[in-house]
Amino acid sequence: MPTHPFKLRCRRCNQPVRWPPPSPRCPRPTCGGPLQPIRNIVFDATLIEPAQQGMWRYQHMLPPLPDDPITLGEGWTPLLNHKREPYQVFLKNDSLNPTDSYKDRGAAMLINNLGDAEVVIDDSSGNAGAALAAYAARANVQARVYIPVDAHSSKLDQIARYGAEIVTVEGDRDEVARVAEAAANDPAVFYASHAWHPGYVLAIQTIAWEIWEQLGRKAPDWVVLPAGNGALLRGVRWGFRSLQKGKLIKSLPRLVAVQSDHCAPLLAYRKGEYHATHFQAEPTVADGVAIPNPPLIEAMGAAVKKTKGRVIAVPEEEILPAQDKLARHGFFVEPTAALSYAALPYLEHKFKPGQTVVLILTGHGLKSN
Ligand SMILES: [Zn+2]
Repeated sequence: MPTHPFKLRCRRCNQPVRWPPPSPRCPRPTCGGPLQPIRNIVFDATLIEPAQQGMWRYQHMLPPLPDDPITLGEGWTPLLNHKREPYQVFLKNDSLNPTDSYKDRGAAMLINNLGDAEVVIDDSSGNAGAALAAYAARANVQARVYIPVDAHSSKLDQIARYGAEIVTVEGDRDEVARVAEAAANDPAVFYASHAWHPGYVLAIQTIAWEIWEQLGRKAPDWVVLPAGNGALLRGVRWGFRSLQKGKLIKSLPRLVAVQSDHCAPLLAYRKGEYHATHFQAEPTVADGVAIPNPPLIEAMGAAVKKTKGRVIAVPEEEILPAQDKLARHGFFVEPTAALSYAALPYLEHKFKPGQTVVLILTGHGLKSN
């Protein structure tokens, strides 16, 4: 049986909300804050079901699944050794998911919690759009993906090939989100927002749980990951926190959020210099983190602070060389995913001999061609 009833509350105003939430944000019109579980999930290793495929080995610690769940085999991606001395580095290769990015975990969770919706929508010209399109195809539900009119993402072809409808919107990234959210006023439409929906973050906890199992039921000392809208950062923190609540690890790994120095709002936030309306960003090859105004920046800052973590802004010109270097080790990932690797030189002086460091590789290199 699940250890957690999966009741939600608003992080800002504490409004209770049932699971699955009818909309991805707090329903109070004056609030609209992010939703999270009322109580921390307590990880119970006796509930792991190794016979289940992928991330569904943890299904009893996640919201209940329908009788005939929709899956493409997401999760349980490899954790591979990269370096042993003087500290150990492992690569968690989450680019090896069905649509080649970690976003499949969240899309799988959301597609199994649609209710009666006939159309599922999101605003994304990247990996979240591709993941949603694939899982909607698998579920035989129509997907509609809203993108900015100037999006030149190579991922649009992947989104279209899964059969999703692509709607272009005049205006910036925020305007696209507003149009998508307004479209969800139709009860037949479900807004599967990868930025807001708590199901995304719940599903991403499985990355932390897999790392713990794959390291021999131990937590690493550090986890390094790209940070855009914060779902990965928050999900990994929730996952390790639930292991700590289950008394399976003593302390949380220190989480390192990596951005490009062309677009590093979280670093500005940590320095007390972030103002959403004035924040200046330049284009970056790391398109997955090209999010100048992450709506949950406060929660992202808390995830870093509460794990005694760090924020690194990698010089833009070092991202593609890092991508090349990783490929020469056998890991062809997209530029956003190379951020974790590019951050290593800025962290090495912090690592102690014998410590364990996990870099999360988020998306495949073929996506960025
Ligand atoms: Zn609220």
